[in-house]
Amino acid sequence: MREFDVVIIGGGLSGSSTALHLSKKGYSVLIIEKEEVQSYKPCAGGMASSMQKFLPLDVKSAIESRINNVEFRWKAGDNVVADLTGESPFWIIRREKFDQILLDESTKNGVQIIRSIMVEKIIQKNDKWEITCNNKNSYTSKFLVIADGSQSKWAGYFKLGPRNPKFANTISLRLKGLGEIPRDTVRFEFGFIKYGFAWAFPLKESLNIGLGTFINNGLLENQDINNQVIRSFGFNDNSYKTINKKLRIWNGFHKINGDKVLAVGDAASLCDPFLAEGIRPSLISSFYAAESIDQCLAGKEDDLNHYTKKVNKNWGESMSWGRRIAQVFYRFPRTGYQLGVKRKTAPKRIAQILSGEMSYEDIAKRVIKRLLLKSGI
Ligand SMILES: Cc1cc2nc3c(=O)[nH]c(=O)nc-3n(C[C@H](O)[C@H](O)[C@H](O)COP(=O)(O)OP(=O)(O)OC[C@H]3O[C@@H](n4cnc5c(N)ncnc54)[C@H](O)[C@@H]3O)c2cc1C
Repeated sequence: MREFDVVIIGGGLSGSSTALHLSKKGYSVLIIEKEEVQSYKPCAGGMASSMQKFLPLDVKSAIESRINNVEFRWKAGDNVVADLTGESPFWIIRREKFDQILLDESTKNGVQIIRSIMVEKIIQKNDKWEITCNNKNSYTSKFLVIADGSQSKWAGYFKLGPRNPKFANTISLRLKGLGEIPRDTVRFEFGFIKYGFAWAFPLKESLNIGLGTFINNGLLENQDINNQVIRSFGFNDNSYKTINKKLRIWNGFHKINGDKVLAVGDAASLCDPFLAEGIRPSLISSFYAAESIDQCLAGKEDDLNHYTKKVNKNWGESMSWGRRIAQVFYRFPRTGYQLGVKRKTAPKRIAQILSGEMSYEDIAKRVIKRLLLKSGI
């Protein structure tokens, strides 16, 4: 039975970035991934460039577009444009390439990856994890990282994250050409999708389109509306292939570590419940996961509790406001669009959220302060 310091279940963005951090710190790591290499990942690839600081390598080769403008529309009209040419720009990365760069660098650092394998059984024995796969091979490790994404089987098994996870329903597709979206612009389209919105993020020569509903278990089954959305981005052909995915979204402060086990990324229910941003929390959680495991393996900490605390502080506090905003905005989207998006200062604030310069918490506190000043309290 081969022994590792850490076994990671899932080799997506969170799994591969956790592996990379740990391997840079000199630990032996095994990733167990259920798929062969994926040629398309249902992710639009929008990422704040400030996230580079959570990665120990340069990922510029995965960037396909640098965004200068964010366009908001209500039913294909009523435009609002936010300028994104600030200090901290927004990139569109090709997810398949991004994940591969992280995996390649990890394997260069000695990380082992086995593919097309499922974990069948995990038991804790003599202070170590014993992991048995469906090919009957077994591995042992001192620590275990759950990075198996939104459909995670293992987060629930170890009681990590919310007991009843909440999901956004999404549809994604990638079309050849950019339609009517300029290469340096992302577009958010409101008003067509009940309880959600649609987005178009440009790669070099193709467009990542997504449709998502975020509250009330809204569905995306109305083909006419979906076609209308896709037409609004400048495409007339309706013979596109789509992928449906349930995306596990942030739903309260929960413990995402146990004894020598923790969850990262979507498996930990960290995705932004308002805008579906999941790359940022995946990178943040992976960074703190590796830091916590390192502290334990180096004998500086006894448990992984500080991992949950750090993620809650650096991500959860903003998301608790993001969830409140989503609950109100998607219930009353027309009013939300008029009062939120069309407000004079809104484009700048939205740009600051997307680029990671501001959190939902900062925005909410500003609004509360303004209301208190207005009411003279
Ligand atoms: C349509 C759509 C558009 C999006 N657009 C954006 C965006 O523009 N910007 C942004 O920030 N976020 C976006 N997101 C969110 C983002 O894609 C996710 O948050 C991110 O992929 C999470 O990474 P992860 O590694 O946690 O999970 P994943 O990337 O899903 O990786 C999980 C991995 O685990 C593997 N796995 C699953 N089960 C097992 C198992 N039992 N055993 C072994 N391996 C297993 C899977 O094969 C996969 O490789 C989008 C999501 C969707 C659905």
